[in-house]
Amino acid sequence: MAKKFTLKIYRGVPGKQYWEEFELELKPFYNFTSALMDIQKTPINKNGERVTPVAWEQGCLEVVCGSCSMLVNGRPVQGCVVLIDKVLQATGTETITVAPFTTYPLIKDLVVDRTEMFENLKEIQAWVETDNALDKGFGPKIDPKVQEERYILSTCISCGCCNEACPQMNKRSKFLGPAIISQVRLFNAHPVGKLTAKERLLPMMEEGGVTDCGNAQNCVQVCPKDIPLTESISLVGRKVAGQSLRTLLSTDDANI
Ligand code: SF4
Ligand code: SF4
Repeated sequence: MAKKFTLKIYRGVPGKQYWEEFELELKPFYNFTSALMDIQKTPINKNGERVTPVAWEQGCLEVVCGSCSMLVNGRPVQGCVVLIDKVLQATGTETITVAPFTTYPLIKDLVVDRTEMFENLKEIQAWVETDNALDKGFGPKIDPKVQEERYILSTCISCGCCNEACPQMNKRSKFLGPAIISQVRLFNAHPVGKLTAKERLLPMMEEGGVTDCGNAQNCVQVCPKDIPLTESISLVGRKVAGQSLRTLLSTDDANI
């Protein structure tokens, strides 16, 4: 007989949240997104009551879209990649809690509004200018070592796991967070992105910038893409110090 387990889900809308339990049968390679899909097909809770299906977000189901973010036993994860069997084994219990992220405004059940993350990406100009680029011919070649360094940074899926784990991120804080800092590093390491490096460093020098990091290093432990966030934070911190000096000396000599 298949082993049973309970998903205890923190659901509801802002100001009206409650825990609801669902009993499920463990399947091979069962992840949280699959379990939520099964609950959606048969939304009957542990008391045998038919309830409204749990709301959550999902897209690619392969850790690329960053939408199935949720707290599993309090840890920020992507629901499509974490195996339920492993969590049950690690905790030695038959109940797992699932809750929405707390860093972003709650919409319903496990769905939160991550708009702030995308607004912050706009603030640091997380792009490379390509307007009229065709007229200018080929851009400079990028050293393979730099390509390799940039590749891992480019795999960020804006899932928000790092922000959720960071003790400096809360409703009162203006901290832009580790993912945004890492994107500053990514775009400033591009030969064309370098032309607007200063514009990306300026928000890093203000309140909410890189000095708001408290160095707890939780972010790097939960990133599903293993992005070296603390390395990015320390590198951007050094660039910010250089930019501050340049501003003080009123020079734009990028070698400082
Ligand atoms: S190292 Fe900085 S950004 Fe990362 S969790 Fe700690 S305070 Fe947050
Ligand atoms: S840095 Fe990692 S944890 Fe943070 S948003 Fe990007 S992929 Fe998610």
